[in-house]
Amino acid sequence: MKAHIVTLPGDGVGPEVTAAAVAVLKAVAARYEHVFDFDEQLIGGAAIDACGEPLRAASLVACRCADAVLLGAVGGPKWSDPNAPVRPEQGLLALRAALGVYANLRPLQVHPALANLSPLKNERLHDVDVLFVRELTGGMYFGTRTRSDDAATDECKYTVTEIERVVRRAFELARGRRRQLTSVDKANVLETSRLWRSTVQRIAADYPDVRVEHQLVDSMAMLLLTRPASYDVVVTENLFGDILTDEAAALAGSLGLLPSASLGDGRRGLYEPIHGSAPDIAGQGVANPVGAILSAALLLRHSLGLEAEAEAVEAAVDTVLRDGPHSRDLGGSAGTAAVLAAILAALDSPA
Ligand code: ATP
Ligand code: MG
Repeated sequence: MKAHIVTLPGDGVGPEVTAAAVAVLKAVAARYEHVFDFDEQLIGGAAIDACGEPLRAASLVACRCADAVLLGAVGGPKWSDPNAPVRPEQGLLALRAALGVYANLRPLQVHPALANLSPLKNERLHDVDVLFVRELTGGMYFGTRTRSDDAATDECKYTVTEIERVVRRAFELARGRRRQLTSVDKANVLETSRLWRSTVQRIAADYPDVRVEHQLVDSMAMLLLTRPASYDVVVTENLFGDILTDEAAALAGSLGLLPSASLGDGRRGLYEPIHGSAPDIAGQGVANPVGAILSAALLLRHSLGLEAEAEAVEAAVDTVLRDGPHSRDLGGSAGTAAVLAAILAALDSPA
């Protein structure tokens, strides 16, 4: 098949890990006889430095015309002055809104070879296999804000349409997995959460084959630590999802391992590792490329429909997490290039 992919390497380690993910996609294209073409665009601090804005209109148009967008990371100390007229993160928020990617998927597994890196010792860690679905384009991130000298407000608003589309996506994903959906809210306090819960209850009637449970976000924060292996698909609103997925990421052992996919109604999606620009290690060639490479696997699966290719990439990553080499965040000493080379070799000769 032919696919047109826009890359947005961004800042810090973004370009290093994105280059590794592109190398993997090129290897997949060669091996499976696909034609992928790549168009690199600027975003974040790199775009501010080059043209004074975090995402040019032309770059946004390029993303909207692509089959998929692969992003590295944005931001860094150079652009972090809160009073600056433009900030790198504005580019990312604008991109998510323009692409209409309202469902942010974050799969979490704990690799058996890395269980010693997880802060949890008590649970069946190798059984953890959770897919978080975070609503990405509504809620408090997009509400009206007010500020006076001695008070401030942040509006949290959700419409039924906004809730329904992301919840339906979560139900569909649960159908392809263990058919269990946990919806997280704060319905004992918040009106938006009561609307969320009643919408989930109504939609559940269309998915009688999926078991549904509701959890309050405060209990869920605790349950993720005490029995993470009990969850399949977890769906929640924007702010709760932000917090819970960072908590969950800690269970995997390193931020450098985890991928994400942001999807809308069509096939086009935005794929990025969950880690940030990691300015403390940028430019040293030591960043773990696994989160970016697994994001490329999600791209193959969700935007291009290439399931076998996605699984081949995941299997290659699995082999390298088991046998090494490991990057520094995993307790090893391999650089980005060595980890990439091992993954490409494993892709070439599957176990
Ligand atoms: P952001 O505000 O952009 O989300 P953050 O504050 O969450 O960023 P990161 O940039 O993700 O922070 O970095 C957090 C820590 O994790 C840093 O010590 C960084 O070096 C480390 N880290 C992040 N990504 C990787 C990676 N791919 N490989 C190795 N270490 C990483
Ligand atoms: Mg962060």
